[in-house]
Amino acid sequence: SKQGGGNRATHFTAQMETLAVAALALDRDLDQAIERRELVLEFQPQGVPGGREVAGWEALVRWNHPKLGRLMPDRFIPLAEERGWIHRIGRHVIDSTLAQIATWDRAGTRIPRIAVNLSPSELRAGLADEIDALVYSHGLTPDRLALEITETAIVGDGAEVAYALTRLSQKGYSIEVDDFGAGYSSLGQLRHLPLETLKIDKSLIDDVHHSKIDTALVGAVIDMARALGMRTVAEGVELPEQERVLARLGCDSYQGYLLGKPMPAARVPDWLAQRSA
Ligand code: C2E
Ligand code: CA
Ligand code: CA
Ligand code: CA
Repeated sequence: SKQGGGNRATHFTAQMETLAVAALALDRDLDQAIERRELVLEFQPQGVPGGREVAGWEALVRWNHPKLGRLMPDRFIPLAEERGWIHRIGRHVIDSTLAQIATWDRAGTRIPRIAVNLSPSELRAGLADEIDALVYSHGLTPDRLALEITETAIVGDGAEVAYALTRLSQKGYSIEVDDFGAGYSSLGQLRHLPLETLKIDKSLIDDVHHSKIDTALVGAVIDMARALGMRTVAEGVELPEQERVLARLGCDSYQGYLLGKPMPAARVPDWLAQRSA
């Protein structure tokens, strides 16, 4: 169909761009990108449906590439995973997030906790000890950091993933299931793991305000998550109607352009001041 062709063309363009990035990035050392402070974080707030509280924050990485300009993570994270750079990126993202939390603590800016994204290959046995060392080196405690891991990564790989998650949870880190509903797993498959939060994928939220089926589906996910002792976050909330439905369904929190787009650290204190005004 015409639409299918369009999608293929878009996909092809995206692949070409990724290849272009790869070609350019190949001769660059990622350590240099980190050293030159080209990897920067933005922070996106989470709110309580129908309320004023700020429920949490997520850190999202961007690459200010000297030749290509600002690259969003979908353009370089898959490449970094493929080339084995992802561990250094992940470590840098966690370190920068913790440094930012410590800075905000000293300035009296109240940020209880920030979630960072982990790629599947980062879920190794030694991860909890590595993260612990970073957290304590910043004078912080594990309750300040949450870790987002996609549904597919959690379900995918048996023993080592379960071990890494258990170690993290025992040390006091919250594990959040990212993109729930985008894959093919069920809550039943997740129920034996120490998971604190379920992030409901944007694809389930998009029509939650005008599709009866999607309303029922999201309601069921929220109820099942609660029955399993998990907190829920709706992702990609763009409309007030969506927030209203989520409030009615008892969703614990929401994230999306409606509340706020990802913003540089410098904008966070002003955003918080405006929010509480
Ligand atoms: P994600 O973890 O599912 O993050 C949510 C993405 O949706 C972000 O895109 C965010 O900017 C976007 N978003 C938030 N609210 C809305 C909304 O209301 N509408 C729409 N259309 N989009 C919204 P972003 O920042 O481009 O990140 C894309 C993905 O890259 C993330 O998806 C995550 O999987 C990955 N990523 C980001 N930072 C990191 C990182 O530090 N490490 C790793 N491994 N992956 C990362
Ligand atoms: Ca995420
Ligand atoms: Ca997500
Ligand atoms: Ca995603």
